[in-house]
Amino acid sequence: MIWGKVDSARTPPRLPPVAGPLLKRGAAKVQDYIEHVGVARVVVKKRPCEDAPPCQEPTNVIKPTLKEVKRSDVLDDPCLRPDKKGRWPAGVFRPLYIKEKPLSSLDIQACYDRQADTWRFAISALEIKVLLDICENNLLPPIRIIDDISVLSSSEACDALADVIGHFEYPIRVTFWYVFRPILIAHERHHKQDYEKVIMLKLPEFENKVREILITCQEAADLNNALQKGQAAILPWAHVLLTNAEQEYSKATLQPDYEEKT
Ligand SMILES: [Zn+2]
Repeated sequence: MIWGKVDSARTPPRLPPVAGPLLKRGAAKVQDYIEHVGVARVVVKKRPCEDAPPCQEPTNVIKPTLKEVKRSDVLDDPCLRPDKKGRWPAGVFRPLYIKEKPLSSLDIQACYDRQADTWRFAISALEIKVLLDICENNLLPPIRIIDDISVLSSSEACDALADVIGHFEYPIRVTFWYVFRPILIAHERHHKQDYEKVIMLKLPEFENKVREILITCQEAADLNNALQKGQAAILPWAHVLLTNAEQEYSKATLQPDYEEKT
């Protein structure tokens, strides 16, 4: 029997009369009949909230995904600014600001808690945009940006190797003007991992805030309405999560030897 799928607007099924031939057909049939009648009656009376999935035990904390975006996708391009020591970046990583709309998806689930007469919410997917890119504007000729080392000829290989080694210093040191994109990207992804750790650290606090949101059946009569209202209530908390995470991450990057260790 699928309670949620019964359409209350439909005419109730035609049932045979209670007394008479049916009762003579045996106990199993009588039981079927009583259930049938019972469903029809309950469905007509019940509120749409009760069609919603009932609440189970809270699910585990979800793991957000970080989606890399390019310099052209942000309002403020850090490749256009030297650092405090006047050095121009070769690659960049940073979380997006709220004004740059860092949430690319925030999927939620809702269930209805009949006992407490409230909708409850959980996050099912969270995708956060982060800037991760190479500052090609700062890597002009004679610098050669190498995407794939297999394109180098054997006569170039020794010089290139010397420059590969120079990429493991901070700032990178190149003698023969070879800059390797995969190495720069790997360095920026290391920052991304640090940021992801901060997000994971702050996530339970966010999920608790989501669990505390209470919307009654009167405020949101059906699942769609509850999801809409839930989304509106959750979004500000998602922004709090991102703001707190950004502050924490920035603090970590200000450690004197942070870049040297990355
Ligand atoms: Zn770095």
